[in-house]
Amino acid sequence: MRIVTPSDDPVRTASGDEISDSIRWQTAMKTALRDPAELCQLLQLPASSVDAAIAAAADFPLFVPQQFAAKMTPGDLHDPLLLQVLPVLRELESPQGFTSDPVGDQQATLTPGLLQKYAGRALLVTTGACAVHCRYCFRRHFPYTEVPSGVAAWQDAVEALAEDESIHEVLLSGGDPLTLADATLAQLAGQLAAIPHLRRIRIHSRLPIMIPQRINDQLLAWLTGTRLTPIFVIHANHPRELDQPVLNAIERLNQAGVMVLNQAVLLAGVNDDVEVLAELSERLVDYRVTPYYLHQLDRVKGAAHFEVSREQGAELIRQLRSRLPGYAVPRYVEEIAGEPNKTIIA
Ligand SMILES: *Cc1c(COP(=O)(O)O)cnc(C)c1O
Ligand code: SF4
Repeated sequence: MRIVTPSDDPVRTASGDEISDSIRWQTAMKTALRDPAELCQLLQLPASSVDAAIAAAADFPLFVPQQFAAKMTPGDLHDPLLLQVLPVLRELESPQGFTSDPVGDQQATLTPGLLQKYAGRALLVTTGACAVHCRYCFRRHFPYTEVPSGVAAWQDAVEALAEDESIHEVLLSGGDPLTLADATLAQLAGQLAAIPHLRRIRIHSRLPIMIPQRINDQLLAWLTGTRLTPIFVIHANHPRELDQPVLNAIERLNQAGVMVLNQAVLLAGVNDDVEVLAELSERLVDYRVTPYYLHQLDRVKGAAHFEVSREQGAELIRQLRSRLPGYAVPRYVEEIAGEPNKTIIA
């Protein structure tokens, strides 16, 4: 994972709603918190947290947009939003079974940056940059410096996609594809749309949660401007992530006709609680987002303290199923390297 400064493309603000009052998304990226001391000071956390964060952030630095930090409760070391982003000493433990490539990305690489694990769809790692550094991320050890970024660098991937008629859907992932400029993404979308057997384009992004003003007119223009059916997978783990600016961003996607799904990761201390998961699903459905996946944590080195057992996860899903409509219960899945699909646990 690395941090880049996104290039500036011209920004027209959206008309009339709160998004027009926000700072530009590029500015929000540039002014994101990167200094553990600054985050801890902002949230009135003890000095011991600063020391721990500095030690634990050495190989995967802290990165949190100010807007996301503003949703955290000052003084609360157990805040479920803080836990997702604050480096802690337990990251330095490396229990057996936790590795640097837990999901077999290295074996699934078709061309640099293009992964195919499942029939009919391929995943393009468009960039190593993200709008937040999630401490549990399975890609925290991914060799992002080897990932080509930019239209010229994607040509091998685009050619490979054009040659394989069995592929119907391209996932833009990363990192986070929406840290790239819209002009770049528009060019890529155009090239993909020119491949006759491709039907769908899917965006996996945490930007709607972290920097919701990223869902602007330029983005919607390229996302909905080709013949490809657009699908958008957001990533919210806790209902408190879904505040009004986020909901406005989702509403814009809805109104543009984009199917919106959510994926969450089951995280100890964050959302391993039936009340939290139920409220997350209810809030998502209120805003016409389908809870798609609840992922079992990938066993990446440094994230062991987030693990919830499969048994406990399955029990949470049983409880959710007994209180929510079927469409509001996510599929509880894990990724097993070499399997032909994500494996349903419950
Ligand atoms: C998770 C994943 C997908 C998407 O799987 P769906 O079940 O279609 O959501 C596609 N490619 C790769 C490499 C993945 O890891
Ligand atoms: S979980 Fe997604 S947004 Fe978070 S660090 Fe990993 S790739 Fe980036």
